[in-house]
Amino acid sequence: LTLLAGLLLAMLAASGCWLFFLLRYRPGKEISQAIKRNEFYVVYQPLIEARTGRVCGVEALLRWTHPVTGPIPPDAFISYAESQNMIVPLTRHLFALVARDAWLLRRYLPPGATMGINIAPAHLTDNGFRQDVTEWLAAMPQDHFACVFEITERTMVSEQNAAEIFDWLHARQITIAIDDFGTGHSNLIYLEKFCFDYLKIDRGFVQSIGRETITSPVLDAVLNLARKLQLKTVAEGVETGEQAAWLLKRGVTHFQGYLFSRPLPPNELICYLQTRQAALS
Ligand code: C2E
Ligand code: MG
Ligand code: MG
Ligand code: MG
Repeated sequence: LTLLAGLLLAMLAASGCWLFFLLRYRPGKEISQAIKRNEFYVVYQPLIEARTGRVCGVEALLRWTHPVTGPIPPDAFISYAESQNMIVPLTRHLFALVARDAWLLRRYLPPGATMGINIAPAHLTDNGFRQDVTEWLAAMPQDHFACVFEITERTMVSEQNAAEIFDWLHARQITIAIDDFGTGHSNLIYLEKFCFDYLKIDRGFVQSIGRETITSPVLDAVLNLARKLQLKTVAEGVETGEQAAWLLKRGVTHFQGYLFSRPLPPNELICYLQTRQAALS
């Protein structure tokens, strides 16, 4: 009898626990809690000028180390944040972290260095977007950095007011990169229609160099087009010297990839910049 009573009690307690959890469950809560608990941090991946091999900027990439589950990949938590309507507060938090780091990094990066930020489609159309950007710019060492907003092709399809938003950003010295080009519905019309400054060629494209002969002519054509439109081109995910040489020969202006550096936290980035500077001069 005591066993039965105990079991019953345990079951009650367990269901109570779930009930408690269910009542307290609020979508997006994990993200806002993680922001409050300072679980997010930013890593920076160098952008290399292809012609000189010099570091001419960085891309800010968000990281989340959950106290229980450990590191969560950005592809997972970004789309989760988007689905929970938490991408806007998360990006606002990213802005704050980047502005803080930028005051330190400006001592090590050349003047005019680019600071790339990934902007989610939902943020671009959010009512508070312009205010968020204005506040971020005010917090940044603006005269040192050239800010670049990275927007995926996916964004463009749904974005009606893109041209107006891009004009507004350009008026504030923010340039625009089309990110992951070649993964979505690569609409070549967009390249002419909107004033992009950078075309970031997706890793998938780059990694086929030397492996699949089929994609090389396509990549060739895209690079020719970019040159005609006077777009700067960034090859993403450059991992081998062979890829870099192929890309340089075809006029790619910038590299990003593990061949040069993985995304690094600020202190490691500073070490990398100092070592590389010493090696180049
Ligand atoms: P992305 O903007 O295209 O960023 C480049 C991704 O490629 C990064 O992955 C980077 O670590 C990875 N990568 C760079 N070089 C190499 C290489 O040589 N080899 C390989 N295999 N990978 C390389 P990460 O940091 O995991 O980010 C994945 C995606 O998540 C990003 O793709 C971006 O779309 C999104 N993301 C990351 N941070 C943010 C953020 O703060 N806001 C938003 N909206 N999206 C973000
Ligand atoms: Mg990006
Ligand atoms: Mg990309
Ligand atoms: Mg990507």
